[in-house]
Order: sequence, then structure tokens, then C-alpha cells
Amino acid sequence: MMAAVMVVDQNPECKIVILEKNAYLGAKVLISGGGRCNVTTGIFDVKELLKNYPRGAKFLMTAMFRFPPEKVMEWFEEHGVPLKKEDDSRIFPVSDKGKDVVGALEKHLRTHGVEIFCNTEVKRIVKNGEQFTVTSKNGSKFISDAVILTTGGNAYRNTGSTGDGYAFAEALGHKLTQLGPSLNSLEIAEKWVGGLAGVSFTKAKLILGTYERTGAFVFTHRGVSGPAVFALSSYVAHETISAREPLQLTVDFFPNEKFETLEHRLFDLIQKNPKKNLANFLDILLPKSLCGVVASLSNIKNSVNAGELNKENRRAILHLLKKFQMTVIGRSGGEEFVTAGGVDLSQINTNTMESKICPGLYFAGEVLDVDGFTGGFNLQAAWATGALAGSSVSRPASL
Ligand SMILES: Cc1cc2nc3c(=O)[nH]c(=O)nc-3n(C[C@H](O)[C@H](O)[C@H](O)COP(=O)(O)OP(=O)(O)OC[C@H]3O[C@@H](n4cnc5c(N)ncnc54)[C@H](O)[C@@H]3O)c2cc1C
Repeated sequence: MMAAVMVVDQNPECKIVILEKNAYLGAKVLISGGGRCNVTTGIFDVKELLKNYPRGAKFLMTAMFRFPPEKVMEWFEEHGVPLKKEDDSRIFPVSDKGKDVVGALEKHLRTHGVEIFCNTEVKRIVKNGEQFTVTSKNGSKFISDAVILTTGGNAYRNTGSTGDGYAFAEALGHKLTQLGPSLNSLEIAEKWVGGLAGVSFTKAKLILGTYERTGAFVFTHRGVSGPAVFALSSYVAHETISAREPLQLTVDFFPNEKFETLEHRLFDLIQKNPKKNLANFLDILLPKSLCGVVASLSNIKNSVNAGELNKENRRAILHLLKKFQMTVIGRSGGEEFVTAGGVDLSQINTNTMESKICPGLYFAGEVLDVDGFTGGFNLQAAWATGALAGSSVSRPASL
């Protein structure tokens, strides 16, 4: 949609069609951000922004400088979608409605004569000489000088993004990198985790294998979720995780306090609350439902009062507060937000989004080997690469 906006704005004479297999445009954008659509990020420094892409950061540089978050915001605000900034610099429509985002794009496209064919599933893209023939499932054929392939990834397949673009890209001679799920919850082996469902932390340090992330997370019925977990899942998108090949997850519930500082605070609290039994005492430091788990993992009898804790006991508790360990045995199946991997970036011109091996073919969005963390980064990548592809197609030399 953003690619088509740029084509029509920069080259109004160009005849543009959008082929969409769903009955309406932007199915995934409509459900993004829980229906509120975290449309982009308030991180305006492009170098900082690019740190949020585990794959594709360098490739995105030109696209992001050309169409950075502030320009994305400007575009939507100028087209009737006032925006607001929330925690972690996430940008949402003031209305909290993703449909306003899709609506603004669709209105612009329709007003400027872009033809939108919904219920039109592309089955084949073939290049004959200088031109492309795009054939849909219902047999209609579209002949064009350029094609912008924006079929998305493979996640949340019920939105229509079923990875079709990977096959089209391959058929036109492109390589794909390994595909894998990214931005998902993690499954934990320890059974007590279910009893903690809903317990959340706004800031904890999580370490998974060689990766670490400080941020919010929440316990779920089967494991852990939330922004910090999603980011870690992104780093390990291509790693095998199973009961046979588990990963160790370590949580520091007090990332702002050094071990010694927390030890002093613990000692101080013990002196102020000597008569409290272990679970009630831990309650001062941790959410209630986690206290029982920490008490039982510390192997200290719950009948022991705070004042009776010896140095070894205190160390055991501190260890659990700073290095709480869980065993990751899987990912939440089919619930990932994005696909890691995609069309190999070495075959795409980073300044135009045009294929280096199939002139006239452009790529944008999640179909590429580009993915970001949660926080508006995936849509930002889609808007920026879409805008660059659209602007490049519009140049008469490409037509
Ligand atoms: C639940 C969920 C929430 C998310 N929330 C956010 C968020 O708040 N912020 C954020 O930045 N990112 C979010 N994302 C990720 C973001 O939505 C995607 O990365 C982004 O939509 C990718 O854009 P795209 O245009 O590349 O692909 P898509 O948005 O997936 O669009 C691809 C389109 O191509 C169509 N299509 C596919 N194959 C064919 C075919 N053969 N013929 C015709 N049409 C076809 C599909 O129907 C689809 O409409 C979320 C993802 C999910 C699943």
C-alpha cells in the first residue's frame, strides 16, 4: 500500500494495480498491536533505530534515512490519522484503531485512481523479455513493466500472509535464507510456571544462551512472554529448542542493583522484619505468587523466620533474585508475530529495493530477510522499504 502511494504520488500517469488475495486490504495491519496498530516507533535516530533489527539492519539504512519514523508519522498525520507516543516510544493512532491506518492508505490510493483488486490471489509471476505477466487464481492476467512483491512473511497465516512470495521470488531466480518464527512466547519445562500466569515485571534482565535483554516480561500458563522475551526469541529464531535440546533462561529481577547492593538491602530488610516467615518476608521484594516458588527453590523451610536466615540462606535467596533459572523447551507454536529470514538481501539493491538479478522486480516488507523487535519496528521496515520501492519504480528510467 505504501509502495503504491509513492508510485502514484511521484508518477500520477503510471497505471497501478494492487492485487490482494483477501476480501479487503491490510488484514495484518488491522490486527497489529492488538487492533491498535503500533504504526511506528518514536526512536528517530536512525542508527539507534537500526539496533532493533536482528536481521537486515545494514540493508535497511537507505530506506530508513529516506523514510524514517518521523516521515511515516508526518504522512499519517497529514492524511487524517493523528498519532500519540506511548511507553517504549511506541507510536499508535490517537483513536487506537488500526483501521484508521489502513483506511488512510486505502482512501489515498482510491482517490488517486489506483485500482485495487481484492479476492485476487496471485498464482504465478513470469518475466517475458522486459515485461511481467502476473496470473491470478481466477485466471486473470496482468501485464506490467514493474512488479513490487509485498506478500509479507509466513506468520499468522490466517491473515493471508502464507509465504507465497517466497515461491515467486525463487521462481524468478532468487535465493531464500533460512525461514523461522520470530517474536514469540517461550515454553518453560518447570511445572510451577503455570501457577505464576499473569505475574509481570516492567524491568528484568533476561539471559538466553549468549543473548541478553532488559525489559518487561510476563509469566504465562506455559512459560514466559512479553517484549523482552520476544526480543530473545528473535535472536534464537534459527536455533532448535526442544525438551531434548533446551536452552537455559536466567532472570535477574533486580537489574538495577548489583549483587552486593541487593545483599545489603536484603540484610537491612531482615533486620527490620526478623519475625516474618520466609514467604511473607520475600513478599516485600517480589510479587506474592513468586515468593512461594522462590522459597521452595531456596530449600529453606518456610517456617524459618527472616531473623533466623544464615549467610548461606541469604546467598541462596540472593542467587534466586539475581539468577533465577528456567528451562526453555519450545516456542509457542504458530503464534509468532513475524518470520525471520526471507529473500536474500545480497540479491537486492539496497538503494532501490530492485532485484539485482531480475530488473523491474522490487521487494518490500516482511518477504525480505528483514525483521525487527516488537515496538513498531516491523511496520516501520515495511513502510520504509515500500516507500523506497515505490519511489524507485516511479523513476522513468525504471519504467
Ligand atoms: C498479531 C500481529 C501483531 C503485530 N503487531 C505489530 C505492531 O503493532 N507493529 C509492528 O510494527 N508490527 C506488527 N506486526 C508485524 C507486522 O504486522 C508485519 O511485519 C507487517 O504487516 C508486514 O507488512 P507486509 O506488507 O510486508 O506484509 P503483510 O502485512 O503480511 O501483507 C501482505 C499481504 O499480501 C497478501 N498476499 C499474500 N500472498 C498473496 C498472493 N499470492 N496474492 C495476493 N495477495 C497476497 C496478504 O493477504 C497480505 O494482505 C504484527 C504481526 C502480527 C502477526
